[in-house]
Amino acid sequence: MRQQLFSHLIFRQLFDANSSTYTYLLGDPQSRRAVYIDTVFERHLRDLALLQELELELLATLDTHCHADHVTGAWLMRQATGCRIGISGRYGDSVVGADLRLDNQDCVSFGKSSLEVRATPGHTDGCLTFVTDDRRMAFTGDCLLIRGTGRCDFQQGNASRLYHSITDRIFTLPDECLIFPGHDYSGRTMSTVGEERAHNPRLGGKGNERDFVGFMESLNLPHPKQIAVAVPANLRCGEPQDGKLPVPALWGPVRQSYAGLLEIDPEWVAEHLQEVFVLDVRQPDELADGVGRIPGSGSIPLNELKARHAELARDRPVIAVCHAGMRSGQATVILREAGFPQVANLKGGMLAWQEMELPVVRGHEVA
Ligand code: FE
Repeated sequence: MRQQLFSHLIFRQLFDANSSTYTYLLGDPQSRRAVYIDTVFERHLRDLALLQELELELLATLDTHCHADHVTGAWLMRQATGCRIGISGRYGDSVVGADLRLDNQDCVSFGKSSLEVRATPGHTDGCLTFVTDDRRMAFTGDCLLIRGTGRCDFQQGNASRLYHSITDRIFTLPDECLIFPGHDYSGRTMSTVGEERAHNPRLGGKGNERDFVGFMESLNLPHPKQIAVAVPANLRCGEPQDGKLPVPALWGPVRQSYAGLLEIDPEWVAEHLQEVFVLDVRQPDELADGVGRIPGSGSIPLNELKARHAELARDRPVIAVCHAGMRSGQATVILREAGFPQVANLKGGMLAWQEMELPVVRGHEVA
């Protein structure tokens, strides 16, 4: 029988290449309730799109700690979804804006699933590890990394405390429990408790506390580049100074899909046909078929778009359309690469347009 790696959960591991941060989405398949662990500010639209496409209701964003190397996406996610923000209560009043002040042995439930909170200080005072209720997965933040550990040389770091957090609260989990860290700088995605207990070069094998502390004190790491920006912002749970949510476009209700495409709903386009230019990228023989064309639309087949985009005006939004919304998605990529500032894909293409009984012209009717 195939081993069920990720238990009964909906599970996604996401990556931010700028800070090498992992973000985790955990969801309960029945109730569709979910939590995010360690979101990244700049990846907000991606993370939001994934929730929407998987039809999940976000209950909370959890931060494993107050990060020094990137700004959390927690505040943005709460603004967008109404979720709650969870972080360690041990930061006290220095963190403002959190809803859940978590500590050791707390439990965060989402549908039939839950995470056990383990306080694992040492990298910072408020570091938390989240363990799934079946103890198959542990999200260790910057406490235990794959073949490494978090650093202890700033933000109340303490190597001795980190040693005990790892040995008493993580290495006591079952050997096969999967370890998912807050970062990895070499592309490694997961490990296990047994593997780290045996092979972690800082505290695996037979090393003791003194060996670990000696190792950590001689690390001499450069200061994190982002620390002056990230820590103050994270003490506000990632609320930006201007209090604004990032939006994919200012000219209309454009959404960014998880695939990274900009898309817009047919109803909005139908109501704003005078303000946009609809570009049909189907082949000429398709334009005459029964589905019809959008009134006022122009035509450049997708395979000619790279050579012909200079024919298009740039002073109003270009909405790309095709039969089902796939080729037109690629058209928006070509137009954005060509520097068009306002572009979106008509979601669902002419099929969706027709289903909603929005106006069309057919055959040789003048558009
Ligand atoms: Fe950290």
